[in-house]
Amino acid sequence: MALYKEQSLKIYNSMSGEKEIFTPINEGNIGMYVCGPTVYSNVHLGNCRTFISFDLVFRYLKHLGFKVRYVRNITDAGHLENDADSGEDRIAKKARLEQIEPMEVVQRYTVDFHNTLQKFNNLPPSIEPTATGHIVEQIETIKKILEKGFAYEVNGSVYFDVLKFDKDHNYGKLSGRTIEDMIANTRELSGQSDKKNPQDFALWKKAEPQHIMRWPSPWSDGFPGWHLECTVMSTKYLGESFDIHGGGMDLKFPHHECEIAQGEAATGKTPVNYWMHANMLTLNGQKMAKSTGNNILPNEIFTGNNPNLSKAYSPSVARFFMLQAHYRSILDFSNDALMASEKGFNRLMDTLRNIDQLPVSNTSSFSVDEWQQRCYNAMNDDFNSPILIATLFDAVKYINAIKEGDEKISQQDLELLKNTMHDFIFEVLGLVDSTIVNEDRTQKLSGTIELLIKLRAEARNNKDFATSDQIRDQLLSLGIQLKDGKEGTTFSVE
Ligand SMILES: [Zn+2]
Repeated sequence: MALYKEQSLKIYNSMSGEKEIFTPINEGNIGMYVCGPTVYSNVHLGNCRTFISFDLVFRYLKHLGFKVRYVRNITDAGHLENDADSGEDRIAKKARLEQIEPMEVVQRYTVDFHNTLQKFNNLPPSIEPTATGHIVEQIETIKKILEKGFAYEVNGSVYFDVLKFDKDHNYGKLSGRTIEDMIANTRELSGQSDKKNPQDFALWKKAEPQHIMRWPSPWSDGFPGWHLECTVMSTKYLGESFDIHGGGMDLKFPHHECEIAQGEAATGKTPVNYWMHANMLTLNGQKMAKSTGNNILPNEIFTGNNPNLSKAYSPSVARFFMLQAHYRSILDFSNDALMASEKGFNRLMDTLRNIDQLPVSNTSSFSVDEWQQRCYNAMNDDFNSPILIATLFDAVKYINAIKEGDEKISQQDLELLKNTMHDFIFEVLGLVDSTIVNEDRTQKLSGTIELLIKLRAEARNNKDFATSDQIRDQLLSLGIQLKDGKEGTTFSVE
């Protein structure tokens, strides 16, 4: 029997502002869409947190036995510098500045995005569609919205008519804004653009002569509006109504609000049943910003090469650190916090490595069944990973007490404890025991150096000093120093 039939999962739905019992549209199957990156620069650490949060969701849903189709897009066109449909296309701008093709920009930063998420041990999504790969579908959806009367064409561009839509659809229901507030807060002066109202947003933009990323359409040579691709690609692969839509908190408005409006206008259906939003990452209590230097790139954590860090940390330690906070809470990144996480992470891994050496008894003095259910309860409560981790540490305490002879465990319970620890630590939290990898590497490296030391000794015995010096010097240039002593040659690694 699938686990999800025994466990009752609750998800905090940003639409209702409440934790709701999760019921998928089709039993046993889940459609999940998460807004992916705009690939015009290296992926930010804050974005990594968002994608790690949804990786946790994806992993837990799969662990529960659901068949999950996880769609995450790549924005490779249509995302302008300014949310109010103005400014240059972000990718085209980068291409212009670096004097390369826009698709070279897209390729470079898509590869960086994939490599970085792979280091964090994120699972790839089931489908990763691109905006430029779905221009035809986007044009079809614009036609539908025009037919339903919720959009209008001006000078080759097509805009969504927010005021008309709001009359019987409530624009702003996700972010809790009203049209009146939006009108009061708007800074755009009328007459500055072709829009009837500043709240309207572009579905299709006519390209200026210098704009290089352009496609033919019934209205003009141009490009789709940024919000449209997500509506089109989510419905294409998951249906007009699907289960979960996720993204960073900053996308709630206007991006997700616009997605809801487009979906409802085109199909008359509610596109999404559960909206999930991951919170942001700060650094030393402040917003990350390149301009102030209060910024860390993911790779700088792995190398330690950043003034905010005292040393390097493994991707698993960084992932563990992020999962120690709930995805809906703001998380503050700092060297001290990371150092504390590393300690905890190592303790967890040490315990796991020694679990097989535990002495077994006829009975257990601790209810492993009850503890296992507490692990599930934590995750069933809106993916509460910090509570799950705390519960895993209850097991660490118990295991240490067994070692000391203060607690007892039966063979059967030991199996259950071990399997549950493995499931939650590796499968659900997606952590990797980096020390095992390192130990293995160290062993291989030592073996290789010992071999070179032997070859060098042979070369010396044959009076082939050119070869023996070459081995010594080249190892030294790699940071490996050989020391000749009475007992033979030893080595040290810098
Ligand atoms: Zn999106």
